[in-house]
Amino acid sequence: MPELPEVEIAARNLRAWARGRRIDRAEAEAQAKRIFRPGQPRAFVAALTGRRVGEVRRVGKHILVRLEDPAGGAEPLGLVSHLGMTGKWLRRSGVEAAPSHSRARLHLDDGSTLHYRDPRLFGRLRLVPGARFEDVPEVAGLGPDPLEEGIDVDRLAAALARRKIAVKVAMLDQALLPGVGNILASEALFRARIDPRRSASSLSRAEVKRLAGAVLASVAETIAREEGPEVSYVEEGASENPFLVYAREGERCPRCRREVIRRVVQGQRSTFFCPRCQG
Ligand SMILES: [Zn+2]
Repeated sequence: MPELPEVEIAARNLRAWARGRRIDRAEAEAQAKRIFRPGQPRAFVAALTGRRVGEVRRVGKHILVRLEDPAGGAEPLGLVSHLGMTGKWLRRSGVEAAPSHSRARLHLDDGSTLHYRDPRLFGRLRLVPGARFEDVPEVAGLGPDPLEEGIDVDRLAAALARRKIAVKVAMLDQALLPGVGNILASEALFRARIDPRRSASSLSRAEVKRLAGAVLASVAETIAREEGPEVSYVEEGASENPFLVYAREGERCPRCRREVIRRVVQGQRSTFFCPRCQG
């Protein structure tokens, strides 16, 4: 499932592939209405065709694309892309076959086609009039992006101190640590040697500082490993698992080599940890 690192790579790819390019033609799969809500596929096609791709940014798990009118007459348009569980942007040359589950296509003026592929349809492509991203509630509610702005330890410590819920669950709040999802939360808590079941409010400032560093280290490591044209998302039970503890229930802990990794369910999501290292 895409979290901050994978979405960052997707944004970098989109920027490299499309920035400054004109969208000669857009296409949207008529059956994939869920992705295009509240606009419908037809509106998506009409709005994007003829636009020039401007700035591409990422905040949390959202990719924000600014689309200019090359003639200069119309106001800019925004596109917010959220990859959901299985969304990906792929680039194909004009002669290559479309990948399976291609829900939207942008045919660019260099002959390439960008495909938005999403087998499970949990992703979203939302048009934003005037590229006023601050008007989109799920974007406006995001805290400072950890990768773009770093993590302010005092701010994070103050926010965690107000919460009696488990620290792992608190970390998933996108107002706190946008882009951090289930995988990053488990990985960072393991790196920081903090029990995921502890109350968020019980963490010392030193522990919050360690946790902030661990989040950034996990992000950097995944970006370094995955950077390339196509990102592979790791699901639980996948054969190749690059993570320290995520989806490693029953395996020996990579740090202490004595205890085995345990799984607990918190807020309906799996958490993986070493009871010895994170005691
Ligand atoms: Zn251990």
